[in-house]
Amino acid sequence: MGHYAFTPPPVISLPILGSNEQGSDDRFPVRRIYCVGRNYTEHVREMGGDPTRSTPMFFTKSRETIVETGTELPYPPQTTDLHYEVELVVAMAGRTEIFGYGVGLDMTRRDLQADAKNAGMPWDMAKNFDNSAPCSALVKAGNAPGINRAEIRLTNNGVTKQKSTLDKMIWSVSEIIAHLNNTVTLAAGDLIYTGTPEGVGPALAGETLIGTITGLPSIEVTYV
Ligand code: MN
Repeated sequence: MGHYAFTPPPVISLPILGSNEQGSDDRFPVRRIYCVGRNYTEHVREMGGDPTRSTPMFFTKSRETIVETGTELPYPPQTTDLHYEVELVVAMAGRTEIFGYGVGLDMTRRDLQADAKNAGMPWDMAKNFDNSAPCSALVKAGNAPGINRAEIRLTNNGVTKQKSTLDKMIWSVSEIIAHLNNTVTLAAGDLIYTGTPEGVGPALAGETLIGTITGLPSIEVTYV
C-alpha cells in the first residue's frame, strides 16, 4: 500500500461524561451527522409552514462542523442572520442501538436557507458550514432515564429563548431511527440532531448561547 498524499484528517470525537470517574477518558468517534427538520409543531408554524400538511424531513452536516462546549466561535461568513436551534442529539452505537444523548445546536444561516427554499435549491450552505454543529459531552443511554419527556431550553446571554419538552417531537427518537434506517444505514458513531422547538432566533457577536436538557450536560458557545 502506498502512502497517503497528505496527513489524513484527525478523528472527530466527543467526550463521554462520567467516563473519567471510571478511570477512562473514552471519547465517542463521530461518523455521520443526520438532522431532522420540522419535528416540533410550533416550530413548523413559526417558520410559516402548516404542520397538518408537512412531515419531518432529513438533512445532513459534515462531522467537521462539530464544536465542543466552551468554544469561542467567529461569526460565520455570508450571513447577517445566524440562528440558533437547540436540539436533543442521539448518539448511535449501531444500526438501531442508542449509545447515548447530548445537547446540540443546529446553527443555521437563516437568510441563506430562505434563499434556498425560494429557489427550490438544497439547504447545504445554510446548514453545513464551519462550526455549525456544536454538541455537548454525551451521556450513556442507561444514565439518562426519562429523557423522552425532559425539558429542553436555550438561553442567549442568560435570556430564555427556546423552552419545550422532548415529548413534543412529532417523530419520537425510535420513529426517527426507523425512518432513517429505511433510507440509509445507520451505524455506530452516527449522531442525529432531532429537531428544534419554537423560539429560534438570531445570535450576534458578543452573545453566549447555552443549550440545556434536563439530565444532560449543557452546550455553551460564544460568538466573538
Ligand atoms: Mn434544526
